[in-house]
Amino acid sequence: MKKTVRAAVLGVGSELTSGQIGNSNALWISQRLKAMGLLTSTHLVVPDDKSLILDGLEFCAQKSDLIFVTGGLGPTSDDFTRDLISQWSKLDLEFDPATWDHIVERLRFRGIATEEFQKQQCYFPKRSTILKNTLGTAHGFYLHANHKDIFVLPGPPREIEAIWKDHVFPWLVNFTEKIDRHVTLSWDILGKSEGELARITEDILRGSGLEIGYRVHMPYVEIKVSFFQSERSQI
Ligand code: ATP
Repeated sequence: MKKTVRAAVLGVGSELTSGQIGNSNALWISQRLKAMGLLTSTHLVVPDDKSLILDGLEFCAQKSDLIFVTGGLGPTSDDFTRDLISQWSKLDLEFDPATWDHIVERLRFRGIATEEFQKQQCYFPKRSTILKNTLGTAHGFYLHANHKDIFVLPGPPREIEAIWKDHVFPWLVNFTEKIDRHVTLSWDILGKSEGELARITEDILRGSGLEIGYRVHMPYVEIKVSFFQSERSQI
C-alpha cells in the first residue's frame, strides 16, 4: 500500500509572531500541496529565536514526513535558519562557491558592493541540494535527514514562487506518484442549517473514520469529507 504523508509548514520570523505580517506563505504552500493530493497537518510560526526554531523543527518532524521551512535565510544577524537545520540534522554547513558567485553577480548588477557578512548565505548542510533562487540572493535547499524530506525556502513570497516552479513542483510531481493521495469531496448545500446537515451527514458516516468538516459561507453550508485514497472503499 502507498505511504500516507502529512506535511508541515514552519514559518520563521519575529515579524510573523509579532503580527507585523501574516503567514501568507503557509497558505500559499498548503494550497499547492492540497492541489497535488498532499495533506498539510501543521502550520507553525516561530520568531527569530534559536531555541524556538529548534523546538519548531522537532515538533514538525514528530507530526509530519514532509516539512517546509520559510524565512531566516538572509545575510543578517537574525537569520539563522540554516544553522538550526544543520544542528537538527547533525550535518555540518559547507561553503558553496557557486552561490557566492551568484550573490556577487546579482549585487554587482544592482550596483551594490558585496560584503563579507553576506557569505553566510553561501553555507548549506552537507548532502543538501541547493535550490537556485532566480529572484533573490538567498538560495533555498532540500535535505533528506532524520527520515524527513525538508525544503528550506527564503521568506519573500515571490522568491518562494520562483523556487517552487523551478525545483519544488517537479520534485513533488515525482513524489506524489508514490504516495497515498489525500482527497476532499465537497458539496455546497442550500436551504438547510449547519446543525441539520450535521445530523444527516453524521447518521450516514458515523463510524467510517472519515474526516468531516462544515463551513458556513452564506447562503451555503459547505460539507467536506476528506480521506486518503486507500480509505475510498469505506464511502
Ligand atoms: P531575505 O534575504 O530577503 O532577508 P529571508 O529568507 O531572510 O530572505 P526573511 O527575512 O525571513 O527572509 O523575510 C523577508 C521578507 O519576506 C519579510 O520581511 C516578509 O515581507 C516576507 N515574509 C517572510 N516570511 C513570510 C511569510 N511566512 N509569509 C509572508 N511573507 C513572508
